[in-house]
Amino acid sequence: MGSTNPLADGHVVGRPCVPSCWMPEAISRHNGGLMQISSNSSTLVLGIESSCDETGVALVEVGGSLAQPQLLAHALHSQIDMHRAYGGVVPELASRDHIRRVIPLARQVLEQGGRTLEQLDVIAYTQGPGLAGALLVGAGVACSLAAALDKPVLPVHHLEGHLLSPFLSADPPEFPFVALLVSGGHTQLMQVDGVGRYTLLGETIDDAAGEAFDKSAKLMGLGYPGGPALSRLAEFGDAQAYKLPRPLLHSGDLDFSFAGLKTAVLAQVKKLGGQPCDQVWADLAASTQAAIVEVLVKKSLRALDATGMKRLVVAGGVGANASLRQELNAACAKRGVRVHYPELHLCTDNGAMIALAAAMRLQAGKAQARKDYAFDVRPRWDLQQFEA
Ligand code: ADP
Ligand code: MG
Repeated sequence: MGSTNPLADGHVVGRPCVPSCWMPEAISRHNGGLMQISSNSSTLVLGIESSCDETGVALVEVGGSLAQPQLLAHALHSQIDMHRAYGGVVPELASRDHIRRVIPLARQVLEQGGRTLEQLDVIAYTQGPGLAGALLVGAGVACSLAAALDKPVLPVHHLEGHLLSPFLSADPPEFPFVALLVSGGHTQLMQVDGVGRYTLLGETIDDAAGEAFDKSAKLMGLGYPGGPALSRLAEFGDAQAYKLPRPLLHSGDLDFSFAGLKTAVLAQVKKLGGQPCDQVWADLAASTQAAIVEVLVKKSLRALDATGMKRLVVAGGVGANASLRQELNAACAKRGVRVHYPELHLCTDNGAMIALAAAMRLQAGKAQARKDYAFDVRPRWDLQQFEA
C-alpha cells in the first residue's frame, strides 16, 4: 500500500507500490496517457471490488464483434463468516482480509478466463462509496498492477456497478428505465437515461431496505447478515399476523424511511418476551418482509407513473429477495412494465459489476482510462455528484 492521508472531504489518496509477486522485470514508465477504445477490437477489463465485506474480481470483455458485454470469469470471497462473530462488519478486519484475497482471486479469474495479464486492456476498481481502508486495498492493488503492466486504470462508482449489473443477465434491459437500487447501504429510485445519465427520484431518509432486513433479523436472533435468513424464515410465516408500519407509503413523494419499522419490530420482540415458538418468529419475519416489500413495490410503481417509463431495473442485494421479485413481477405485469434483475449471484457486491460499469463507460465514451496511478478513494460519494 502507498502512504495515505485522510482528507477533510472524505477523499483518501495514495500512491502505489507494486506487489513484488506481480513485478515484471522492468516497470514501464507511465505517461498519464489516455486509453482509446477501438471499435474494431474488443476491450478486456479486469474489475476489482473491495468496498465492504466482499472481495470480488472479474474479467469482462466488450466491443469488437460482441453484441453484449461478456463475463469471462469472476471470483468472490465473502467475509461474512469472519464478521459474523462480531454481529457486523469490522472495518480493519475487512481491509486486512481484502489484502489477503485480492491477488489470488485475480490469478483465479485470469486462469478461468484463459487470459494473461498482458492481454488486459484496462484495470478497473471501486473508488467509492464504501469503507476507506477496504477501498484503499482495491485501489492500491489495481493501480500497482496497472503501473507494473503499463496499463490504464479506471475508477468506478460502486452504485453505478449495481445499477448496470442487469446488463450481464440473460435478459438485459434497454435504456431508459427506472432503477430501484436496494442494497445494505442504499435505497434509491433513479431515472436512468443512459450510461452516466442518472437522476435521483427518491431515496431513504434513514435506514436502507437491506439495513431494515438486517436489523430486524438481528432483533429476532437470526444473526448477520440477516436479510437472507429473515426471508427464508418468512416463507413459513403469516404475513398478516402482525400489523407493522409502512413508513412514508402515502407521502406522495418517492422517498423511503425504514427506521420506524425496526422500532416496531423491536416493540413486538419485547412484547413477545422469552422464547416464543418458531411459528411466532416466522410470522414476525413474514410480516416484516411484507412491510418492506409493499413499500418498495408501491414506490417503484409511483416512480414508473411519474416518469411514464415502462421498464424497471432492480439492483443491489435486496433484489435477491424472492418475495420482492414476486410482488414486483405481478404488479408490473398488470401495467405492461418489464422488470429486469441481475443474475441472482450478481445481486450482492461483486467484481463483475465493476468491470462491466468500466467497460460500459468506456464504450459509451463517458470515461477514459488513464495511466495515472495516483489513487483517490471516496468513502462517501453520491451517484448524483458523479461526472457523466
Ligand atoms: P452493500 O453494497 O450496501 O454492501 P449489497 O448490495 O452487497 O449491499 O447487499 C447486501 C444486503 O442485501 C444486505 O443488507 C443483505 O441482508 C441483503 N440481502 C441479500 N439477500 C437478501 C434476500 N434474499 N432478502 C433480503 N435481503 C437480502
Ligand atoms: Mg453493494
